[in-house]
Amino acid sequence: MSQKNTQSDTIELRPVQDDFRQSPDYVMTSLAGAITLGFEKGKFAREETVLRGLNILTTYPENCVANCSYCGMSRERRVPREESTFIRVKWPIVPVDELIEKSVQVSHQMRRLCVGMLANRQSFDHSLQIIQQFHEKTPLLISGLITASLIKKREDLEMIRDAGADRVDIAIDAATPELFDKHRGRPVKGPHRWDHFWWVTEEATKVFEPGTVGIHLVAGLGESEEELLAACQKAQDMNVVTHLFSFNPEPSTLLGDYSQPSMGHYRRCQLGRYLINELGIHLHHFRFNTAGQVVDFGLDPKTFDKIVESGRPFMTSGCPDEQGETACNRPYGNGRPSEKIRNFAFAPTVRDVEDIHTQLFADLTQDVDTRFDGPDENTLIASKGGNFAELGK
Ligand code: SF4
Repeated sequence: MSQKNTQSDTIELRPVQDDFRQSPDYVMTSLAGAITLGFEKGKFAREETVLRGLNILTTYPENCVANCSYCGMSRERRVPREESTFIRVKWPIVPVDELIEKSVQVSHQMRRLCVGMLANRQSFDHSLQIIQQFHEKTPLLISGLITASLIKKREDLEMIRDAGADRVDIAIDAATPELFDKHRGRPVKGPHRWDHFWWVTEEATKVFEPGTVGIHLVAGLGESEEELLAACQKAQDMNVVTHLFSFNPEPSTLLGDYSQPSMGHYRRCQLGRYLINELGIHLHHFRFNTAGQVVDFGLDPKTFDKIVESGRPFMTSGCPDEQGETACNRPYGNGRPSEKIRNFAFAPTVRDVEDIHTQLFADLTQDVDTRFDGPDENTLIASKGGNFAELGK
């Protein structure tokens, strides 16, 4: 990871604006959603892209009261709200009434709404109101993207479910307790605590249907691949799926000068996550080098190639539609249109898969044989309980 060793210590508070637009009457909507519904002009860089999910966030003049080092909504970010970005794209502020109206009237292929909560005292109640309105007035499935610090008891999760969300994700983001604390906890004067986020995740599994709880992890916050995939496995052991993001530096945040994780790091995390979540292969079948990089996924060459060539591990991992296909495909989620795609919002082409092949083992710090003469596919299915039917898709 080529990142600077120290975080900026010259932080000024974000200018607070005298702006009447705030939740629950207004929300921020992803640029992709704003374009699809006609709030903004623009088009997707790749013509294959079709937006399948609408992502929104609660919004307040003071933005978030937390201060996560990598987040464009953080308290100490030195830009006015109008210039705010989140995962490095603009999030236009729109009236909720108009958003509901357009999501019913405009022709689109979005199947799911995601309601994200800023860490703000009012955000929980406002999210409930927004979820309920969309549930009553639109046919969209609804995910609650939970800021766990706002959840104090199991009943809070029940209220999210009862308002109309069929799924929740908890944005844990950092893969280890140390990184979580460093980027989100006391060192950055933030309210978030690792144990509480995992407690909320576990409680959510008791409130929502099996298989409908997820966590977010961000690759590139200083973790090794082994650490990130261990967090995926920890979640999987709780029947919780991981939705993966690549760190993308937001200017004027504490990590604004840091670089993205290498493409190799991200590709191996994507493939490992896919094997753990979608094929049920346990982390202990992977081999790592001393730098914690995956050097062997424990698959025979034929199976390995089949999985990579399917392109599926490298598509955006997100909450699904009614058929189980990813609805939250976040076309601008992890990089600019001019940059190499990290999460594919569509099935990668043959050319994309060639690129992925090259990226997968391009930057290992040690040369280790990446394949082994392992058992054939049938033996793997039997011995690992892997769901290889997924490969037929
Ligand atoms: S995966 Fe997408 S829809 Fe699901 S909670 Fe995360 S951002 Fe929302």
